[in-house]
Amino acid sequence: MSESKKYLLTEKDIPTAWYNIIPSMPTAPRPMLHPATKLPLTPEDLYPLFSEEAARQELNVTDSWIEIPEEVRDMYKIWRPTPLVRARGLEKMLDTPAHIYFKNESVSPVGSHKLNSALPQAYYCKQQGVTNITTETGAGQWGAALSLATRMMGIDLAVYMVKISYNQKPYRRSIMQTYGAEVIASPSMSTKAGRKIITDHPNYQGSLGTAISEAVELAMSTPNCKYALGSVMNHVALHQTVIGLEAEKQMEMAGEYPDVVIGCFGGGSNFSGISFPFMRHNLSGERSTRFVAAEPSSCPKLTRGVMQYDYGDEAGYTPLIPMLTLGHNFSPANIHAGGLRYHGAGSVVSQLKTDGLMDAVDIPQLESFEAATMFARAEGLIPAPESAHAIAAAIREARAAKEAGESRVILFNLSGHGLIDMTAYDRYLAGDLANYEVTDEEVARNTSGLEKII
Ligand SMILES: *Cc1c(COP(=O)(O)O)cnc(C)c1O
Repeated sequence: MSESKKYLLTEKDIPTAWYNIIPSMPTAPRPMLHPATKLPLTPEDLYPLFSEEAARQELNVTDSWIEIPEEVRDMYKIWRPTPLVRARGLEKMLDTPAHIYFKNESVSPVGSHKLNSALPQAYYCKQQGVTNITTETGAGQWGAALSLATRMMGIDLAVYMVKISYNQKPYRRSIMQTYGAEVIASPSMSTKAGRKIITDHPNYQGSLGTAISEAVELAMSTPNCKYALGSVMNHVALHQTVIGLEAEKQMEMAGEYPDVVIGCFGGGSNFSGISFPFMRHNLSGERSTRFVAAEPSSCPKLTRGVMQYDYGDEAGYTPLIPMLTLGHNFSPANIHAGGLRYHGAGSVVSQLKTDGLMDAVDIPQLESFEAATMFARAEGLIPAPESAHAIAAAIREARAAKEAGESRVILFNLSGHGLIDMTAYDRYLAGDLANYEVTDEEVARNTSGLEKII
């Protein structure tokens, strides 16, 4: 562990622009559609939901670089640039010839990458005079990040938190409340969408899809109130590219270039953030790096989902997104990586995966915790259960390199730390955790009902 080497940048190295991959994609993603008219979305269609700037970024298919406001860059300085670490402890433990690097996004005040997008989203709302924001949170990471970001901007926040996490992760709830946010367990009786689900399934433990429906409904029915989303959307992936842009400079300091870049995958924001800046060199023909998204076996939209127009939420309030999806009514098993329990992937990643420009692997829950424990013992950091999926995929790569007797440069994103997830570790250490597989019938049942728009 003591040998692990850090590559540090200074404040002036914080990127001045985010990287938008869409103009460089060989196949542009199909347009998102208005849920009522089924016509391609315009930025104006999104204005009731998001800040106008976020809406414009969401549909920007022409500008490869989008300037980061100076005020946002200043706030990034609170914890950015984040360290890149060569994980020599882990390399040694695995006895691998591979070089393993990780970008440590767990050093943000809220312990994850989510603040990278929460800050600009809250900032653009503030600029426009918005007074209230609603959102959803699964594991509580996005809610915590937006609670802090809205506090810094003087905006009030209401968070719909997936019920199972509300009960399993009480400290995340307290973090949001400490920052001054109002936290409501979802499904709740405070919205039509919540009341309907509770009536149909009284013991339903909630999902991100349901929580999004509730947050969107409240934002649409409250004046001067917007909604903010922590993943899936293009503008969120865009904001997260600060991760990869910094990592690119740091890999240069290390004198290496990654053969494979890995991120865990919920809706795609941290994977996109670490990957897209490197992928731009593949798209221009200079490099042939592999990109691997690591998703949980219990929620395998990239490896087993269908490419279809689908809603981002349970009730069907969001635009129709062209996505690899398990169906918006898919109800994932109650794994501890709550942030990965989402039915679909963002439109850009879905298209990149369909075009063979990236790979995906699915990781069983027990393998993710074995990897997490190994990483903690080798590098000293206790990873978030979500990030553990990226670690497991990196370990598979390192073992494959050893098997093949070849060197390989592996870069993964440590999206967050797990210090508030010790209940999950407790259960793992006690031998109480299980793997969950999804049957083909379940996938077919959930996706067959989708409107066939493609
Ligand atoms: C939310 C979260 C994820 C999953 O979301 P993505 O948008 O796919 O990045 C992964 N890791 C952590 C720590 C998270 O909080």
